[in-house]
Amino acid sequence: MKVRVRFAPSPTGMLHIGGARTALFNWLYARHTGGTFVLRVEDTDAARNTAEARQVIFDGLRWLGMNWDEGPEKGGDHGPYFQSQRLDLYRSYVDKLLSKGLAYEFEGAVKFKMPKDRCVVKDLICGDVAFDRTLEPDLVILRKDGSPVFHLVNVVDDLEMKITHVIRGEDHLSNTQKHLALFAALGAEPPQYAHIPLILNNDGSKMSKRDAGSSIAEYHAQGYVPEALRNYLCLLGWSPKDDREIVDIQELIQLFDLPQVNRHNARFDMAKLHWMNGQYMARQSLADFTEHAIPFLKAAGQIDDSTDRERLGKMLAIVQEKVKLFQDLPNWTIYLLKDDYPFDPEAVAKTLKKDGAAGRLAKLRERYAALADWTVEKLESELKALAAELSVKTGELIHPCRVAVSGKTVGPSLYHMLEVLGKQRVLERLDRAASL
Ligand code: GLU
Repeated sequence: MKVRVRFAPSPTGMLHIGGARTALFNWLYARHTGGTFVLRVEDTDAARNTAEARQVIFDGLRWLGMNWDEGPEKGGDHGPYFQSQRLDLYRSYVDKLLSKGLAYEFEGAVKFKMPKDRCVVKDLICGDVAFDRTLEPDLVILRKDGSPVFHLVNVVDDLEMKITHVIRGEDHLSNTQKHLALFAALGAEPPQYAHIPLILNNDGSKMSKRDAGSSIAEYHAQGYVPEALRNYLCLLGWSPKDDREIVDIQELIQLFDLPQVNRHNARFDMAKLHWMNGQYMARQSLADFTEHAIPFLKAAGQIDDSTDRERLGKMLAIVQEKVKLFQDLPNWTIYLLKDDYPFDPEAVAKTLKKDGAAGRLAKLRERYAALADWTVEKLESELKALAAELSVKTGELIHPCRVAVSGKTVGPSLYHMLEVLGKQRVLERLDRAASL
């Protein structure tokens, strides 16, 4: 049996973390089994069904690298399925149920006769879950205004699209008893179900769409590396069982399977995601890193189209391993790319204004002015030699020099900074620091 799974979001105006994780588990399962990943937009609620709300979903999925495999042909492209374009189909199923006597008209609406019995949902993740349907009221499937209800359209499409595995959030587990009743009434074999546990905030509360950090678009805007977020989402409720955290996507596809999905709720740990993003940033090729960096540096007004790419690459190379988020990058590059960088007043007071610092910096400036080779090695040996002559620790030169040329106490290796800044700039900055 060829696996067919689907991601079936309702357009709400955002793709949230939980939805993206559901999409990812479906996508991974399809890729793992060589099956098909269907995207079906559940947009029968006309009020919410806007072009923007749909676009947010497509953008989020594409950004995370989860392409869908089929849908109605549109100009050579496979568009996703839209339920809003399938209303006649749902109507025909309502008629089918009416003609079999399994549904009936009620005050202008149509209700499905729920079987009054007990049923068991055999879930691939949650195990057997029993439901008592003896008191379950009949189910409205077509509203008075003629619009079909979620339960009906969801089941009709899973049937029509020959979905083999329904992988979705645990919040839908209690709906599944209704869906099973509809499948039985339509004389069809239901798909297998796999309900994935919820995602909680780190404090154990339920993650809601309103929580900060719940929207995929925000991660995009802040400069997360999509592969890092995708890797992190994989580990929300699933793991490769050997404590590894950074795992290449091809290997994730190979390892992913439904029985290993955790039955416990997963906790969303922002600090861990941040760490993981830093790991992915550090591993990017300099060309990729630069490509990602450019829009953030442009937005911060630190570069423009005339900026020399090679020089930019040299500057980025020295901060690449330090930054954990592209949004933070301008803080690391401002003094590399701009001469009018701000000075941290506390750093100035503690290092530049420290007793004797001005005299030591003046000596360092003299030595650096006389330096013929402006290289990391020479910059380092010259500074160390001067420290030895002055009988001070190297820190007594390194710290004030760093604050003078960058305005900050933290940053990449001082000698690398000095090298990429270039001799003239460094000497000018040391002069300026002397008059601060
Ligand atoms: N449109 C439903 C939702 O977004 C889909 C549920 C399902 O996957 O079956 O929650």
